[in-house]
Amino acid sequence: MILIDGKKAATELRQELKQEVMQLKTQHNKVPGLTVILIGDMAPSQIYVKNKEKAAKEVGLKSEIIKFPDTIEENIVLKKIEELNEDVSVSGILVQLPLPKHIDKQKVIETISPLKDVDGFHPMNVGNLSSGYESSVPCTPLGCYLMIKKIEPNLSGKKAVIVGRSNLNGKPMAQLLLKENCTVTVTHSKTKDLKTECLEADIIVAAVGIPELVKGDWVKKDAIVIDVGINKTENGLVGDVAFDEVSKVAKALTPVPGGVGPMTIACLLKNTIDCFKRSQK
Ligand code: NAD
Repeated sequence: MILIDGKKAATELRQELKQEVMQLKTQHNKVPGLTVILIGDMAPSQIYVKNKEKAAKEVGLKSEIIKFPDTIEENIVLKKIEELNEDVSVSGILVQLPLPKHIDKQKVIETISPLKDVDGFHPMNVGNLSSGYESSVPCTPLGCYLMIKKIEPNLSGKKAVIVGRSNLNGKPMAQLLLKENCTVTVTHSKTKDLKTECLEADIIVAAVGIPELVKGDWVKKDAIVIDVGINKTENGLVGDVAFDEVSKVAKALTPVPGGVGPMTIACLLKNTIDCFKRSQK
């Protein structure tokens, strides 16, 4: 069984991106810039944002964090986003979620210019992705996709089963695999027989949030299994896939932690660089 090492894949991707940033600097005499807006002082969000800033700086991006208290009025946040949309030194804008209740998440997402939408949440990017056009792609499914492609470069005709249909993970993942000519089934909480669906799959991507939902006897021999889930349990962090059981049948499997997670931030950097490149065209 191939244990898909997300840390290694992310380190390699970051090395490539670092090289690319150096080339872009020589070519354009400037580097891509990522601006993150953080609202409130929720500990996990603060940690995520700090990690994103550190990673951005490591590959040579210009990085900035704008902090607002959680009492900030929505219109001030929207105004700041509009300013950033106009700022040529900013290639990518990310508003860290979740937001305080009085701020409308969808309004925030739609105010970010689709050209600077490094999270790939803007409806224009969602539409472009589903139409098969160039777009920003949400970072976590993009990371999963890159890891799958490393194991199996030709995905044409493969049967993929996505467990979970969130806008963040399941749906964009399905679009990415459709574009690769996979036959894709998207399953969810109302799916009748999840085990039977999974047993058909050459590729399973689990993004549910239920500890060890996907069992060993749900997985076809030699399937590629990507575990997006991060679940805190009494036994520590576990994914949506029963790792010990599935590792006995799968051809390749991501661990939790150390699988999908590290690739997510690396893909945010990739998206920032891609936005910069599109803006220079
Ligand atoms: P979500 O709660 O938005 O969506 C979960 C999906 O699972 C829904 O579509 C729901 O229909 C489906 N579902 C629920 N119960 C099911 C069942 N019994 N059978 C089949 N489908 C079922 O979750 P999300 O934001 O996509 O996150 C999923 C998991 O991925 C969470 O554990 C989250 O912490 C993790 N996550 C990890 C990363 C990372 O970087 N590794 C990033 C984002 C999310």
